[in-house]
Amino acid sequence: MIVLLLGSGGREHAFAWKFNQSKLLDKLYVAPGNAGTAAIAENIDLNPNDFGKVKQFVLSHAVDMLVVGPEDPLVNGIHDFFLQDEEIKHVAVIGPEKLGAQLEGSKDFAKDFMSRHQIPTAKYKSITAENLEEGLSFLDSLKAPYVLKADGLAAGKGVLIIDDLEEAKDSLQQMLGGMFGEASNRVVIEEFLSGIELSVFVLTDGKSYRILAEAKDYKRIGEGDTGLNTGGMGAISPVPFAKEDFMQKVEERVIIPTIQGFQKDNMPYKGFVFIGLMNREGDPYVIEYNVRMGDPETEVIMPRIKSDMLELLQAVSKQELSGAEFVLDERTVATVMLVSGGYPEAYQRGKVIYNLDKADGSLIFHAGTKMANEEVVTNGGRVISVSSYGKDIKAALASSFKNAELIDFEGKYYRKDIGFDL
Ligand code: ATP
Repeated sequence: MIVLLLGSGGREHAFAWKFNQSKLLDKLYVAPGNAGTAAIAENIDLNPNDFGKVKQFVLSHAVDMLVVGPEDPLVNGIHDFFLQDEEIKHVAVIGPEKLGAQLEGSKDFAKDFMSRHQIPTAKYKSITAENLEEGLSFLDSLKAPYVLKADGLAAGKGVLIIDDLEEAKDSLQQMLGGMFGEASNRVVIEEFLSGIELSVFVLTDGKSYRILAEAKDYKRIGEGDTGLNTGGMGAISPVPFAKEDFMQKVEERVIIPTIQGFQKDNMPYKGFVFIGLMNREGDPYVIEYNVRMGDPETEVIMPRIKSDMLELLQAVSKQELSGAEFVLDERTVATVMLVSGGYPEAYQRGKVIYNLDKADGSLIFHAGTKMANEEVVTNGGRVISVSSYGKDIKAALASSFKNAELIDFEGKYYRKDIGFDL
C-alpha cells in the first residue's frame, strides 16, 4: 500500500513510526513532514490545504490511502474533494467528510449534535449579534465562571473563561465584534463544568467503532497547570482515574450515541474521533469533539497499539472495522514535550538540537524540527516529544525526563511536573 500522510507535527511522526511497522506498507510519503519523518519516510513539499496539488501527487505516485493528520484540510472538505473526483475517488481517505468535520469546525454544530442525540454536555446558548440580548440574560442566569467560545476554528485560542459577570458580558460583545475574526461571529456561551479532564480516542468506520485508548494531556506552559495555553506539553495513557465503570459510562452515554448520531444524521464518518471529556463526580460530560487525533496524545497512543494500524485503517475505509483485530499494550506511555524558549509567545527557530542519537529507552518523536546543513534544527514552538513505556506512570516518566534532560538545544524548556496530578 502506498500511503500519503498529511501534516508535520509530533502526531504525524508518531503515525509514520507506527505505519512503518505495518506489513501492508510499501511506501510512505509525508507532506510536508519534519526531520523525524524524513528519516523514516519520504517528505514531500506540499501544502495539505492545496487540494489540487495533493490530487496531482496522489495520481503521479499511485497513492492508495490518504491519512489526514490535522483538522484544517478536513474542515475545508478534502474528503469530499476526493469523493467528488472520478480520478481519485478510489483513494481511501482517513478523516471525516466536511459535514462530520463540522463537529470540530463549529462549536454550535457540535452542541446541536449533542443535544439532538442526548449526549451529556454543558448547558449552552448560541449567540450572534442578532440575539445578543438573549446571550446577556443567559449569562445572568449562570454562575461564575463564564465560558465563552468562538464558534469557528481559532487555533485553540477561541475559548475564554471569565470570573466576572460584567467582564463576561463585555467579552461577549467584543467576540461578536470580531475579536477572533469570523470565527467569533457566533459565540457559544456555556455553563462551567468543574471536574477532571481527559480525552478518549475512537476510531470509526461510521457503523462500528474501536475505543483506542484514553489519555490526559497538559495544556498550560507552566508547572502546576499555570500560565498560557499551548498545543500540549505532555500526555499520559492510560489514565488511572478512568476506571472501568467510568469508561463504561463514556461508551454507553457518549460513544454509542455519537456513532448512532452519525448514522441518524446521515453523516459519513471514517476516521478518528477525539472526545474531550470532563469527569464530573464520576459522570462524563463532553467538552468538545475533534475530528482527528490529538498532539501530543498520538505520541502516547500509537506506541500502545499493538495491532497493525494500516490494517485497522484499511478496515475503516472498507467499513469492516467490526472484524478487525485490535490489541492494546497494557503498559503506561508518557510523553514530555520539549519546547522553544518563549513559546507559546515569540520564540526563535533554527537552533541545533544535540544528543538525539544518545537518547536511550524512549521513542523520540519530532514536532517542529527540520534538517539544515545536515543537522537537525528547531523549526517550531513544540520541538520534540519524548515518549516512554513504563510499568506505571512514574517509571514511564522517569525515562522521558532522563532523555528530556539529555536532548538539548538553546532555550529548551519542558514541564518537569507532567503527571503531577495523577
Ligand atoms: P482545544 O485547544 O482543546 O482544541 P478548543 O479551542 O477547541 O480547545 P475547548 O476544548 O472547547 O476549545 O475548550 C478549551 C478548554 O477550556 C477545555 O480544554 C477546558 O479546559 C475548558 N473548557 C471548555 N469548556 C468548558 C466548560 N463548559 N466548563 C469548564 N471548562 C471548560
